[in-house]
Amino acid sequence: MFLGIDLGGTHIKAVLLNESGQVVHEKQLATCASEGTAAVMAKLSALIVDADRGFPGELQRIGLAVPGVLDQERKRVVLLPNFPDSWHGFELREHLMLVTGQEVELINDARAAAFAELNLGAGRGISDFLLLVLGTGVGGGVVLKGELILGSRGVAGELGHQVIQPDGLLCGCGNRGCLETIASGPAIASAAIRVLKQGLPTLMRELVQDDVSKVNSSIVDEAAVRGDRFAIDILKGAANALVQAIRNGIAILNPGAVIIGGGVARSGFLLDLVRRGLESRVILFPSTLGGVDVVEAVFGTYAGAVGAAAWAMSRRTS
Ligand SMILES: [Zn+2]
Repeated sequence: MFLGIDLGGTHIKAVLLNESGQVVHEKQLATCASEGTAAVMAKLSALIVDADRGFPGELQRIGLAVPGVLDQERKRVVLLPNFPDSWHGFELREHLMLVTGQEVELINDARAAAFAELNLGAGRGISDFLLLVLGTGVGGGVVLKGELILGSRGVAGELGHQVIQPDGLLCGCGNRGCLETIASGPAIASAAIRVLKQGLPTLMRELVQDDVSKVNSSIVDEAAVRGDRFAIDILKGAANALVQAIRNGIAILNPGAVIIGGGVARSGFLLDLVRRGLESRVILFPSTLGGVDVVEAVFGTYAGAVGAAAWAMSRRTS
């Protein structure tokens, strides 16, 4: 039995994966990272005890997915950009190993999602693909010849931090105009809030009853489906940025598919725009060579946890 934990900015999710790769247990708790490392460690321990209770003595190894930069060689967390400063330098893996007495394997959360899709989801049978996770940020992963690519320092696959607009909005990574600043859930919501604040006649205003705090990417999707031109323009902007980023990926890696997951990907409207954009704008190769399938991810919010468990399983002999 392998335990996968996804330490997210808002929730910690845990799953147990059996030897056949089936999820036999899943649970989540709110992270509350601002309460400090000890409080979050207590929640991690509670999730582990809870998972272990149903299958005592069967836990072999733990995979821990984190939303940040890792030093894969030294097995250390280098940066958790969305966590408070008090987390800086906290030896997360060592603490978890001490508490559990188990070996802990670290992986970036989006790379974990790519690993889940590769082994158990939409990527099965596809040897080369890109994964984009459109959520609070835009995560990415690259699979080539059936292998998850981590690069020379373990940070390959940061597809969300491709610069699409050099003079664009400031990104959490310090650059300007990254894909994440245009196509993440908060980026789409911010664009909608700007439309509302300009007093434009949009259906989105009605959908949130004039309360901008209720605006999110689902509202934009709903308005677009119902023909609201302002919502459609926002999603077109996000889709164009995604198409440009995917075109870059095609030029460098020639993947057979792009798997898109995350909450924002539930917008069928956005995915259709991306598909149409790719069909009309991928001109680098004849379509028989450069065509790429846009596929929806199988795993939803537990993708990182499932991938972390699968990662732990794959590392058991290392
Ligand atoms: Zn960035």
